[in-house]
Amino acid sequence: MTDIALEMPWLQNAWQDVQKRFAEDRLPHALLLTGECGVGKRAWADAVVGLLLCASPAVNTVSGKSVACGECRQCQLLAASSHPDVRVYSPEKSRMIKIDQIRSLSAFAVSSPQVSARKVAIIDRADQLNINSANALLKTLEEPVADFVLLLLQESGRPVLPTIRSRCQVLSIPLPSGDQAGQWLASKVAELEDDKQPTAELMAKSLMLAGNAPRLAFQYATGEFPGLRDEAFDKFRQFMKGQITVSEAAKAFKALGLEDMLWLFEGWAADLARLCAGGKANDHEAEEMIGFLAGINPAWRAHELLDLVREARAAGVYNVNPELEASRLLIAWRGLMPSRRRAS
Ligand SMILES: [Zn+2]
Repeated sequence: MTDIALEMPWLQNAWQDVQKRFAEDRLPHALLLTGECGVGKRAWADAVVGLLLCASPAVNTVSGKSVACGECRQCQLLAASSHPDVRVYSPEKSRMIKIDQIRSLSAFAVSSPQVSARKVAIIDRADQLNINSANALLKTLEEPVADFVLLLLQESGRPVLPTIRSRCQVLSIPLPSGDQAGQWLASKVAELEDDKQPTAELMAKSLMLAGNAPRLAFQYATGEFPGLRDEAFDKFRQFMKGQITVSEAAKAFKALGLEDMLWLFEGWAADLARLCAGGKANDHEAEEMIGFLAGINPAWRAHELLDLVREARAAGVYNVNPELEASRLLIAWRGLMPSRRRAS
């Protein structure tokens, strides 16, 4: 009988909203939840699914909120990820949600529930619907079925078509405070075997790199991203100073994979925009170098770099070559250096 908002307090508002609508029996047929990557959107969706399908929701003694009982057959099927009345649609290899997946969702929406009173589908992530799948989804959104609820998850800063958005009840999750994120991360890490636990230093660094998005920080703290990122950052600095060639630098970025690579470049470009505007950088380790660039470049250069990342991400659907994309972005960054240091 866990209450998600006790575990992740920053989900409180989005969770309470659902609780209230559920209690008043006026749950919308489509809810769109927005939040940063790794902030806990899926945890929220899973808690909502539990509440909607549990045969006898119980009251959590600490929060006083209705939560899934965790014991009934519905809850057991959910825990085993084998509930027939729940479907999750997420991007496939192409990084997009395809029209076939939405056709399957539409058929599921109008089918009869198998073991529960209703069916629930999660689209994780609604910002990865291509234009055809988004159009196919409109029919389901326009002709709601009484026993079907759709939860759409959207990553902040990634657009969802207005035609989809306008047909959903929109909720958002804020980032937790540094303390909340740190506590959550520490509690998750404590569940790992002793020899798998990251050091306090790595945990702090992971939180910094993840911008305090806790689930992303956990993934970083237990994965290889921080090491690969350090290597890429080193090469990035050397390249900017004209010490190595663009292809040497690009190799280090390629090792991250396209998604993480673009994420890094995007973070640095956003930091450049912040520093140009007199703010602070999120990536403390890159602050000195990016601060130097902010001092000698106009702010529009930062936005140009952000646009380049967006273009690369849009092109990512068509299997672009990560090494070529890295080279293109690195060369654009080096255009920010004073010309006398721009060795070719
Ligand atoms: Zn239950």
